[in-house]
Order: sequence, then C-alpha cells, then structure tokens
Amino acid sequence: MKLESKVPPGPLAEKWTRYKREQKLISPANKSKYTVIVVGTGLAGASAAASLAELGYKVLSFCFQDSPRRAHSIAAQGGINAAKNYRNDGDSVYRLFYDTIKGGDFRSREANVYRLAEVSVNIIDQCVAQGVPFAREYGGLLDTRSFGGAQLQRTFYCRGQTGQQLLLGAYQALSRQIGLGQVKMFPRCEMLDLVVVDGKARGIVTRHLETGKIQSFSADAVVLATGGYSNVFYLSTNANGCNVSATYRAYKRGAFFANPCFTQIHPTCIPVSGDHQSKLTLMSESLRNDGRVWVPRNKADVGKHPNEIPEDARDYYLERKYPSFGNLAPRDISSRAAKEVCDDGRGVGPGGRGVYLDFADAIRRQGKARIEEKYGNLFQMYERITAEDAYTRPMRIYPALHYTMGGLWVNYELMSNLPGLFVIGEANFSDHGANRLGASALMQGLADGYFILPYTLTNWLADQKPGVTPLDHPEFKRVEAEATQRIKKLLSIKGKKTANELHRELGHVMWEYVGMARSRAGLETAIQRIRELREEFWSNVCVPGSDADLNVALERANRVSDYMEFGELLALDALRREESCGGHFRVEYQTPDGEALRDDANFCHVAAWEYAGPDREPIRNIEPLEFEVVKPTVRSYK
Ligand SMILES: Cc1cc2nc3c(=O)[nH]c(=O)nc-3n(C[C@H](O)[C@H](O)[C@H](O)COP(=O)(O)OP(=O)(O)OC[C@H]3O[C@@H](n4cnc5c(N)ncnc54)[C@H](O)[C@@H]3O)c2cc1C
Repeated sequence: MKLESKVPPGPLAEKWTRYKREQKLISPANKSKYTVIVVGTGLAGASAAASLAELGYKVLSFCFQDSPRRAHSIAAQGGINAAKNYRNDGDSVYRLFYDTIKGGDFRSREANVYRLAEVSVNIIDQCVAQGVPFAREYGGLLDTRSFGGAQLQRTFYCRGQTGQQLLLGAYQALSRQIGLGQVKMFPRCEMLDLVVVDGKARGIVTRHLETGKIQSFSADAVVLATGGYSNVFYLSTNANGCNVSATYRAYKRGAFFANPCFTQIHPTCIPVSGDHQSKLTLMSESLRNDGRVWVPRNKADVGKHPNEIPEDARDYYLERKYPSFGNLAPRDISSRAAKEVCDDGRGVGPGGRGVYLDFADAIRRQGKARIEEKYGNLFQMYERITAEDAYTRPMRIYPALHYTMGGLWVNYELMSNLPGLFVIGEANFSDHGANRLGASALMQGLADGYFILPYTLTNWLADQKPGVTPLDHPEFKRVEAEATQRIKKLLSIKGKKTANELHRELGHVMWEYVGMARSRAGLETAIQRIRELREEFWSNVCVPGSDADLNVALERANRVSDYMEFGELLALDALRREESCGGHFRVEYQTPDGEALRDDANFCHVAAWEYAGPDREPIRNIEPLEFEVVKPTVRSYK
C-alpha cells in the first residue's frame, strides 16, 4: 500500500506556515457539533484534550489511572528542549532540527522534525503562562542545561521533576475544560479496542477497571495518546501500567505499526539488582552535565572501592572515545559504550553490569550545595534505592529500556492510515527516527497536543459531516462482544503461572535477543521463543478473581496478552531491518570501531507493518524517507 505522508510542498521552513494558511476551518458554532475521543492524559493527551475543548469541540477523555495527572509523563525528570537561544550559544530552529535528525540517525521525516523544532519555542511560552516553575538564573531569566547529542544548552527544566510540573500545567488546562463541561473525563477506563465503521475510526470499547463494565463510546474522530511500549521488555524505566494494548489493538483493526524495533536503551539507570524487581529507575541524563562516566582501566581494580582507584587507573571512556561530546554523547552511543566496557570485564557492582557516574569533580568545583540544588531529588532517589550516598561515592549506572521511537504510523497531519484515527506523543512513530535525543519527548508530546493536532484535526473534520455513529450499530456490538469474550477467556484458563511470571520470561527473551545487540540468529530464536511463550500464556495463565470488580491480575493479563504478540512484531521488524541505525544495533552491520553501520541504499525508509490476520506474517509497507535539506552522513560525535 502506498503511504501518503501528506507533507506540504514548498521550502522546508515554510511548510508548516503554509499548511496553517491553507487549512480548512470550522466555524465556532459548528465545532460543538463534533465529538472527539482522546485516549490518554499524559502530556500529549492532556494538552490535546484541553486545546481541542478550548476550540469548542466536545471531548471525551480517557485514562486508566484514577486521575489524569497520574499519567506516566509525570515521571519525566530532566527537561524539555526548545530552540529559544536564551543563552546566545548559537541555537536556532535549524540547529535543533539538525541535531534531532542526526540524533535519530537520519531515519525520520524532515518536515515533521522541522515543524517540531519550530513550535518548540511556543511550548515554553505556553507553559510559563500556565505557571510551570521552570528553573531560573540569578537574573530571573529561564535557566537551561545540556542534554545528549547537542553542543549547546537548550534544555529547560524544573529541577529533576520537569514532567511532573509540565503535566500539572496541562492538567490545569484540562481541568478548566472539565469544569466548563467541554471535556467529559473517564478515569479508570481502559480502552480495549477501536471501532472502525466503513473504513473510518468511529469509537472505542472500554472496560471500567473498578466495576468491570464494558462500554462503547462513539465520536467523529479518535485520538490515541497512550504512550510507549518499553514494558514489552518487562524491566524498563516506565511505570508499571504502561502498555501497548491501545495501539496494538488499533493495529489489529487496520492501523499500521511503524518501526517497532526502534527502541531506546537509556545509559543511566540504576542497575538490575535481582529477579525480584518489577521496574527499573532512571537517573536523568541531565546528571551527565556534571557527572563523569568511568570504569577501572584494569580488570584487577573492579572489586575495589571506587574512591581508592587513582585517577590514572580510571578509563573515562566516553571522554576518550568521543572527545567533542564526551559524557554527553547520545543515548544509543553511550549505552553501547557501557556494554562494551562491561563485556570487556571492567564493569562494576553485582554481576559486573555497571559503570560509575562520578560527581567528585563537579562537587569540588561548584560545591555540594549547587549540585544538590540542581539534582537533589535524583540523589535522594538513588540513595533510597541503593543505600549509597552519591555525594561521597560515584553512582553505579547501567543501560535499561526507556523509550520507544516506534509507534502507529501517522502522516504529517498526525493521522494514521485509518481515516479519523489520530495518534500523538510517544504512541506514534514520531519524529525521533532510530534514536531520540534527551528532552525531546516532552517537546514532541506537547507540540503534538497544544500546537499541531488542533490545526490538523480541524482540517480533517472540516470535510466530515458531524454526527457520531449510534452505539447500537452492529460494528460496536461486534467489537464489544469480542472484548467481553477475551476477558472471559483469560479468566477461564485457570493455569499455573501468573501473567507476571510469563511477562518476566518474555522480558528475558526480549532483553537477551532483541536488546542492545541484535543478530539474525538471536532474532530468529526470539521469534520462536515468543511463539512458545504465547502458546503457554493462552493455555497456562492463571487469572484469579472475577471480571465484575477491581481485578489487577486481570488488567495485567490483558496487557501481557498483547505483549505476547507485539514482541514478535518487534523482533520481526528488527530481523527485516538489515542495517544498524540509532538504537537498532545489528551486530552484523557495524563499522570496524563498533559503531552503527547504516544502509541508506536499502533501508532509508519507515517500515509500516500491516496486520494480516492471526498466524499470518504481517505485511511490511514502506514509506521512503527523502532528504531535501540535510544530507544523511555517517553520524559522528568524535
Ligand atoms: C523515568 C523517565 C524519565 C523521563 N524523562 C524525560 C525528560 O526529562 N524529558 C523528555 O523529553 N522525556 C522524558 N521521558 C520520556 C517522556 O516522559 C515520555 O515519552 C512522555 O511523557 C510520554 O507522554 P505521552 O503523553 O505520550 O504518554 P504517557 O504520559 O505515557 O501517557 C499515556 C496515557 O495513556 C493512558 N492509557 C494508556 N493505555 C490506555 C488504555 N488502553 N486505555 C486508556 N488509557 C490508556 C494512560 O492512562 C496515560 O494517561 C522520560 C521517561 C521516563 C520513563
């Protein structure tokens, strides 16, 4: 199938302005005749729901948490990028665009990324107006710091709690519209399926997590803002509830899933400490502004207390290998470098799977109080988890699954190939290509919700006659019945393993064969193992309790059942992409010094997977990526 990106014609820097100039409008009186469903209340969903309601649309907003403000976005720590150039250090829209395209290893759409950089400046103004307490300098201006993959300071932040503060801003905007009756909020409501009528997305089927009630909702358009799928790896930095269900089920109803193998492994997480863990904890990339990454130069020193290892016996490997970017080399590159030194037997801590992140120099130079001011909550979190004081000995960190660049395919208007289904935030395949730069996810989520969707959705709705499909339409009834049946089936198996146990086994397979280093043989093994696990899941999962009240085991099993299928799609995508780029590292394709080796001649495209039915291999569609302004080059941070 030919994928229409709908990128407007004209020079790159004028495309978005031109789009807005030419977009169709709907009069204020008519906007209230349209209903829009927004699933998700993270930064993308909350900002979209609030903005659409402010425009005058009727909005139905859904999340599975008890409050919209508990969405996973609240966990974001380090900051949000914007090309404001407040520091006068040479930033510009073009430079943010270029860094993002290069950071993604030239696997994203130029026009989308340029637009993202363009609207980044509006986001900061919007959030300041909402009262988001960004860090300020002595003179009162907003402060910025560095993040990976950039040689300037464009990251705005609120200590180590940027996501929380931004989400409170978006939540206030959403609450205002709930108060005005323009948004109807449905917390504790999990989307189970998408309803497609006559080829268009027309509604969703949900389950209320406290009463178990299965219910349908109908709308003129559906927006998915349901976040990423890192938890397919079981252990990740994501909140436990994050899941792929909404997007995966939309995929099974016809929406294409793009680049599922583009997953991000973050270099600075607290290392795994044992099998008891249900999640991992991120230590924000912002720490690499002041922390220096090292391991002992000699294997013989790995067991020593770090403070006893003299300076000349340390290997500051990022500074050594990437002198221009040093400790702020991008995530994919820093993660692989950490793996390399650990594989070499120089990793520290349990199992040799850790490297040091050391603040001694920064504390000497700036004083403990300044470091505490900048990162206090992160040091506290580290101490609570490891019982170690990072002010007096280096942190131990190791890469972990963190973010997913893949997601449902969308065109320039953020609409999927299914008319009426829009996808925003981490849930779409987005603007980050094969690797996301730090502080760019918050930027993208808020750009989509506040500044892009309100235009593009209006443009689409303007051609649609308002009026929702009645809920007694046979398609709603059919999808509702299927969702109910699936829940009943999960409860009826009464096997011997919990969904959690099976999920953990899936996670082991994913991490081992589809993690930081992937090979043909490993990916084929993974696909085989996932199929076996899926079979075991459907014959041996044990889901206690009933479907008529709060049942956390049932919620979990339902989400894990999707991971059991989606894991295979991810591995298949990794198998078919016979190149290395960004976070997708195939050991067969690397340069002599171990860097990712792209194959632009054969893989400069988006792979958009089309569901072909149960037990049939999905179809790999392609959207070629055309670079008019930037010339894809070998990505170097040396
Ligand atoms: C620890 C951590 C720190 C981070 N720090 C940064 C940072 O400093 N800077 C940065 O740019 N990025 C950061 N990120 C990434 C960033 O936080 C996320 O990419 C971003 O917040 C995702 O926002 P979202 O709105 O797309 O989705 P989310 O915030 O994940 O929201 C998803 C929403 O969808 C709802 N939902 C999901 N499935 C369903 C369903 N089936 N039915 C109903 N509702 C559903 C949920 O209830 C939730 O409301 C960090 C990520 C982590 C894990």
